[in-house]
Amino acid sequence: MSPLPMQSFDDDFDGIATAPKTTTATAQAAAPAPVSTTPKAAAAPKAAVVEEEENNSTTTDDDENLSTDFDDEKVYARPGQLNQLRPEKGKAVRFAFIPKEWIAPQTAKSHWVETPDGQGKTTKRRYRCLTPLGKESEQAYCCERTGEDGKIEVVALVVHYTNADPITGKYEKDASGNFPPVQFEIGFVRLSGFNMRQIKKLPDEDSDPFKIDIVMTHADGRAFGYEFNRKAPVPRWTLDPQTAAAVKAAAQRFLDGKALRGKLGQRLNEVEWKALLSGKKPGSEATLGNVEEL
Ligand SMILES: [Zn+2]
Repeated sequence: MSPLPMQSFDDDFDGIATAPKTTTATAQAAAPAPVSTTPKAAAAPKAAVVEEEENNSTTTDDDENLSTDFDDEKVYARPGQLNQLRPEKGKAVRFAFIPKEWIAPQTAKSHWVETPDGQGKTTKRRYRCLTPLGKESEQAYCCERTGEDGKIEVVALVVHYTNADPITGKYEKDASGNFPPVQFEIGFVRLSGFNMRQIKKLPDEDSDPFKIDIVMTHADGRAFGYEFNRKAPVPRWTLDPQTAAAVKAAAQRFLDGKALRGKLGQRLNEVEWKALLSGKKPGSEATLGNVEEL
């Protein structure tokens, strides 16, 4: 039970718009925030190295180079982190689905439940629905008690092109007529059934959604929701063998599906669901008053 809250931790931030993060591109996404805290972090390792070398000249284990600097990607990278692609209003993100032979998109039903965050406020979290997928299933406790069916969601690993044009999703040739090399991070998209139908229509007849580049934008004229358009008939990351190898290497740690499945919500059994919902009126959005005491 203890590792589970960690898996859904990211989902706490679902409502907060975050700038796309990059691991391959440095400066632009690293932005001002980390800078104020970095001087200490940067200074400490250096001092430590010097001290160790002076006091321990016979050990060979302590000659590790821990030096860093403000443009050091290591300081800003968050390995193991799977960021959700969520373009801001007026902006676009470009991506391609990771080949389904590596890992298939994952689907499950979930409920959004408001729970106290322990600091006097509430936060909405995603919990997996107990009713199995499929029309014939009888409603499980969670659906009965919340008064709504679990929502079907699909999550899929993607290659997020971090240096595509942030407005159009295009790659533009530079002054010398060359396209810039692809910079990317492995991320994920969360899709509704509606989104799935939309994306299914994008490829040509002899292709499929895994073999194209897609641009995701905010839907025009709707308060929420995203729109998906085809940007290229072949994923750009596959065109250069070096980039393709880098994508494969970066995706490796996510191919067991653990992090991805975690994005579908925390798993609870019926007893845990009952505990979670004991402070909630059926069908209401009411706050859970006493979950902390359970
Ligand atoms: Zn349910």
